[in-house]
Amino acid sequence: MYELLNSLSYFEFFLFIVGIVSLRYFGIAVPMYLVIWKWKPAWSEKMKIQLGGRRPIKPKIELMWSVSTILVNGLWGMAMLYFYKLGWFQVYTEISGVGGYLYYAASLMLGMIFHDAYFYWAHRAMHTKLLYKHVHEIHHKSINPTALAAYCFHPLEAFLEVAFLLPLLVLIPMHYSAVFLFLLITFLFNMGGHLGIDFTPKGTWDKWWGSWLTTPTHHNIHHQRFNCNYALYYRYWDEIFGTLYPGTGKVYNDIKNREPAAAKQPAKA
Ligand SMILES: [Zn+2]
Ligand SMILES: [Zn+2]
Repeated sequence: MYELLNSLSYFEFFLFIVGIVSLRYFGIAVPMYLVIWKWKPAWSEKMKIQLGGRRPIKPKIELMWSVSTILVNGLWGMAMLYFYKLGWFQVYTEISGVGGYLYYAASLMLGMIFHDAYFYWAHRAMHTKLLYKHVHEIHHKSINPTALAAYCFHPLEAFLEVAFLLPLLVLIPMHYSAVFLFLLITFLFNMGGHLGIDFTPKGTWDKWWGSWLTTPTHHNIHHQRFNCNYALYYRYWDEIFGTLYPGTGKVYNDIKNREPAAAKQPAKA
């Protein structure tokens, strides 16, 4: 696999990245949107975060910005290949070579800690007056987000969302497959935060194994309230800087303890 990737030209690598991101968007995000917001089976209605919320942005507008995001991802992929060929990255090919599987797991954890810090502060910057009005507002048109919002960004924000890969791979040695696994985790958190449902097991917000994670409800509240819950994976940045919406745990637990009848209220897509 590594040899194959290494042999790709810049344009082939662009197509490779566009292919992967398109597969995630059209193969996973769009079907999830259709299931949760059009088909509306009982299992997803039960987990809906906002009941009956309106969506002022049209799906086709979200699709348009998402295609632009996919292209930005592909272009940044080409730039990353260029930096790789310059020898800037500490990407390695033999798992046994750098600390084995223990380091492999640690590198993923380190990557998430690094990315979380980057994401939190970049997101805070996006909420400054100028950047919000001209860039980030596109993403916030979804007050009650669906999976279609996961890639709905202005091109500048789409670029900033992936630009962290440059310092990440310069600073942290990662096995090449760990890079792809890390990007898959990033995608799952991103999409999970925009589905409109909270699929995490009951109690996740308070139990020791989940009390440091954001959960989909956390990001959904960000879309409703704008000025809180900025982080991606972990809660500590929001806790340290006082941006964690104090009612997040209550909203989460209310969803998980909701009576089935309450979930039957119509939710407009
Ligand atoms: Zn969002
Ligand atoms: Zn925001």
